[in-house]
Amino acid sequence: MSASTLAATTFVAARSRAHGPTSALWHAVELHRPTAEVDGACELTLCGSLARIDVEQSWPTPARDVCPACVVLTS
Ligand SMILES: [Zn+2]
Repeated sequence: MSASTLAATTFVAARSRAHGPTSALWHAVELHRPTAEVDGACELTLCGSLARIDVEQSWPTPARDVCPACVVLTS
């Protein structure tokens, strides 16, 4: 293992489902696989929710309905 393999962590945006009083939000998911493999997959977000990855949406996202916990965890 060399230092050059330690690439910066990449995040993608993932959309959680609205349930109950909680509205759907954009979360951040740490990306370990090529985006082609994770598109549409449900993954554990940084804040511990499950959300569906949308590789069309970059992170940080310009959307307004963003999970505040994920913003803090990726900043
Ligand atoms: Zn989150």
